[in-house]
Amino acid sequence: MKILVLGAGQLARMMALDGLPLNLELRAFDVGPGKVVHPLSGDSYEQSLAQAIDWADVITSEFEHIPYDVLDTCEQSGKMYPDAKAIKAGGDRRKEKQLLEQANVANAPHVIITDKASFEKALSELATPMVLKSALAGYDGKGQWRLKANDDANALYNELEAFLNANPSQAIVGEKMIPFDREVSLIGARAHDGSVKVYPLAVNHHYQGVLNLSIVDGKQSDALQQQAQQMFEAIANTLNYVGVLAIEFFVVGEKLLVNEIAPRVHNSGHWSQQGAFVSQFDNHLRAVANLPLGDTELRTPTAMINILGQDEVAPAIYSAPGTRVHWYGKDKRPGRKMGHINVSADDATQLIARIKDIAKLLPSDQFPGLHEYLENH
Ligand code: ATP
Ligand code: MG
Repeated sequence: MKILVLGAGQLARMMALDGLPLNLELRAFDVGPGKVVHPLSGDSYEQSLAQAIDWADVITSEFEHIPYDVLDTCEQSGKMYPDAKAIKAGGDRRKEKQLLEQANVANAPHVIITDKASFEKALSELATPMVLKSALAGYDGKGQWRLKANDDANALYNELEAFLNANPSQAIVGEKMIPFDREVSLIGARAHDGSVKVYPLAVNHHYQGVLNLSIVDGKQSDALQQQAQQMFEAIANTLNYVGVLAIEFFVVGEKLLVNEIAPRVHNSGHWSQQGAFVSQFDNHLRAVANLPLGDTELRTPTAMINILGQDEVAPAIYSAPGTRVHWYGKDKRPGRKMGHINVSADDATQLIARIKDIAKLLPSDQFPGLHEYLENH
């Protein structure tokens, strides 16, 4: 079976790697230059998007910030999973908030800000501290502002107004700042027949808006896991979703609030390459290719450490127990997601010990989020 992936980054690459044993052939559409490329080598097929759509049996996506004309063209072929509506909901925080309301899942109270009046409304309804996010094109904490106190409101509004004037299709979603205990995410797959399989919850640690560390040690309570699964099903069923869907949550006490969704495989699911029998990439391909979903149970407690802006790690990492290094073959740029390290252990205690051992080989200026997390655990 032939699958066209919209987007040609590391997620398409890891899908292609897991597609090989399933006899699935993948090509990737690099949206920026508008080229159809091999997802591993990057070599161009000299094929137009229309030709690639014809070539494909199934079309899927590795990110949500795709121009609507591309999405709509793909949707018209009837081969697109998840469909354009789901991708658009992941790429526009206004649509995303509508979806969360429709699915009736708890999320951070919000106000959509387009002018001074709606900004004042946000101030009075949400109060400070507040998080403000651009409706479109947000990722890795980009396009976000924090309003700590009312005294700073005027200065911030001037900044938001300039942003909105320069970007007429944009809006700002003002959100109540949630004093969360921790952040977790649920990765799951929904098949053509509506059946669902979810992975165990990952605990995620962000540094300056970017995911640095995910830990899946099976220690999250059954109640939390069930709550997350129920919210996953509500959202996925509302979208009639097919494929892997990721949901990020804030944990407040024993209650979950949805932060955001990603209609695709997700960075906080990379641990599944060795912590589960069937990875999120494998399960995404199965879902869209209409194959039975695979085992999502935790096989071994596993953590994932992102490698940001570096193209090498200490050689001793490669031989550390339970550890594998995954590179994405990208050119080095500051802050860029270049690869990740997966480390597995027999149980949660051994896992944190192994993370601490590996952290000794990872300098704190290059892995600040990892070291920040370990200071408190
Ligand atoms: P991603 O890379 O996951 O796509 P993003 O840029 O889309 O990130 P969010 O996930 O919305 O942004 O926000 C990034 C981080 O900022 C969150 O993981 C969380 O730590 C913090 N954050 C976002 N919204 C809130 C909120 N309402 N209250 C408290 N913290 C928040
Ligand atoms: Mg996020």
